[in-house]
Amino acid sequence: MNLFENEQYVCKVCGFNIIGHFPERCPFCDALNENFITAENCSENYKVLETKVTNKVKRLNSTPPLGLEHTAYSIKAEDQTIWIDCPSTFDSSLEKMDKIIFTHHHFLGASNLYRSYNTAFVWIHIEDSKHIMSQNHPFDKKFDTDFHLSGIKAFHIDGHTPGFTFFSYEDVVFVCDYVSISEGKMKFNPYGPHGKTIEGGKLIKKLLENGNYQKVCGFDYVVAFSEWMSLLDDLLNSSTN
Ligand SMILES: [Zn+2]
Ligand SMILES: [Zn+2]
Repeated sequence: MNLFENEQYVCKVCGFNIIGHFPERCPFCDALNENFITAENCSENYKVLETKVTNKVKRLNSTPPLGLEHTAYSIKAEDQTIWIDCPSTFDSSLEKMDKIIFTHHHFLGASNLYRSYNTAFVWIHIEDSKHIMSQNHPFDKKFDTDFHLSGIKAFHIDGHTPGFTFFSYEDVVFVCDYVSISEGKMKFNPYGPHGKTIEGGKLIKKLLENGNYQKVCGFDYVVAFSEWMSLLDDLLNSSTN
């Protein structure tokens, strides 16, 4: 099997994988195509670095860093390995995953290549599967409700994207880029409907506030749950629709 027989490019500015054609500009970040490399070239020049979060959870990041790529996470669950989101780089040396489940459609990474190579199943919320940027990416399941899978809990939020879904596994929460943290302050992701994003933030708080969590894994951070929750409280208190 030649994994790279179909046309595929990786945008070095944002890490988006463009499947099946060579557009003038990146569909995600609008960078010119002089910034694209082939997925095969990407796989030869970048690897995926695994960093331990807990005994069962690892961060996955391209190395050297690849543009705006968001951190993906690997969970060694009861009976299968499940990724939350997917790196931009395809690295054949990674342990086989059974499923790749997306928080939303912004960073689909090289999920189609991992899917083919490992016969993995790719899941995304049905609303985010409809977006134009998702059209060339294969999905095996388009979920439309909250669900439980091998100890992972999925909560559909809407907000940042219509299908945005966050996850928890044991005492770890996965929220991707719903919020960012810098200089001790939390901000909502500005790329989405403002009012709905705040409503989603309130829902996240409600779903998590009585749980027994230790860590929150985001797109470029892993922080203590108590710290994250208090920053979210501050953010919600200062937000108006
Ligand atoms: Zn791009
Ligand atoms: Zn996003």
